[in-house]
Amino acid sequence: MKKNLFLITILLLLQCCKSPEKNGSLTIQTVNGEIEPDALGVALIHEHVLVDFIGADSTGFHRWDKEEVVSFLIPYIKEIQDRGVKTIMECTPSYLGKDPELLRLLSEKTGMQILTNVGYYGAISGKYLPEHAYQESAEQLSKRWIREAQYGIADSGIKPGFIKISVNEGSVLSGLDAKLVKAAGLTHLETGLLIVAHTGTWQTARAQMDILQSLNVPLENFVWVHAQNEKDFENYLRANKEGVWISLDGVVWDLKGHLDRLVFMKEQVGLDRVLISHDAGWYEPGLEEQKNFKGFTSIFDELIPLLYENGFTKKDLDLLLIENPKRAFSIGRQ
Ligand SMILES: [Zn+2]
Repeated sequence: MKKNLFLITILLLLQCCKSPEKNGSLTIQTVNGEIEPDALGVALIHEHVLVDFIGADSTGFHRWDKEEVVSFLIPYIKEIQDRGVKTIMECTPSYLGKDPELLRLLSEKTGMQILTNVGYYGAISGKYLPEHAYQESAEQLSKRWIREAQYGIADSGIKPGFIKISVNEGSVLSGLDAKLVKAAGLTHLETGLLIVAHTGTWQTARAQMDILQSLNVPLENFVWVHAQNEKDFENYLRANKEGVWISLDGVVWDLKGHLDRLVFMKEQVGLDRVLISHDAGWYEPGLEEQKNFKGFTSIFDELIPLLYENGFTKKDLDLLLIENPKRAFSIGRQ
């Protein structure tokens, strides 16, 4: 009997230490190491510093000069620091221009806290997927991602603060996209990292949620990215009911569309599962001039005044920009 009790205690302890779910001591992983969740401050949860569209077969760090990119970006970072932003989640995945060392340099030069990610981008018919993503199983891919979460990305020693994947639109996911979602789910189960998935419409979100649920991943660890592409607002309520994060992250591209959705959510169910950002940036390697670069100020200069006109309070804005990012991106200390 005593022996059984001892075994049960050991099993419970093992279970507790293994669980990545959000109980106990929490942390947020930036490119400069862990921070206390309360140090996150105003956060832009979906932005881009650099995006390289050339494709997985040709991209690489040889395509840009880190110092040059950092110098270009500093004024854009300063202008949002003036508006109170403390943290940026950089959502560019591997093989699409993600450069953790560049992000660390930018963070060191400006004091901006930056999170990077682990994961692959399946949309655009796999143009940004490396060869091994086609050959390996979800389990094998997740092993790569878990290793990066534990020891750092490539040989940079920089750890990801979340998982970023991307899938093509559709109520039924391709085998390849389903594999990426499964790999993300397995990585979450081992690391506790939030799954941020480039999605679009509700049907594509639902298809991913089904896979995650089959792995027993609680859906509050899933971010429905580009949810502004959904036309039927009722589907936001369905998502909210399931606990997923609704990411209205294209403010710089469609101010009115975001305003309408935020007003709807506030009136219907409240804002405690909603995230906002610009999906702005980005430095594009290979261009003579960076004429298309968009700064990260629209939320502060355009959206917030409109939200106040529509009955939003300071408390609502703190929820959207501070509290929700903090809850979403906090992970259990390993
Ligand atoms: Zn994006």
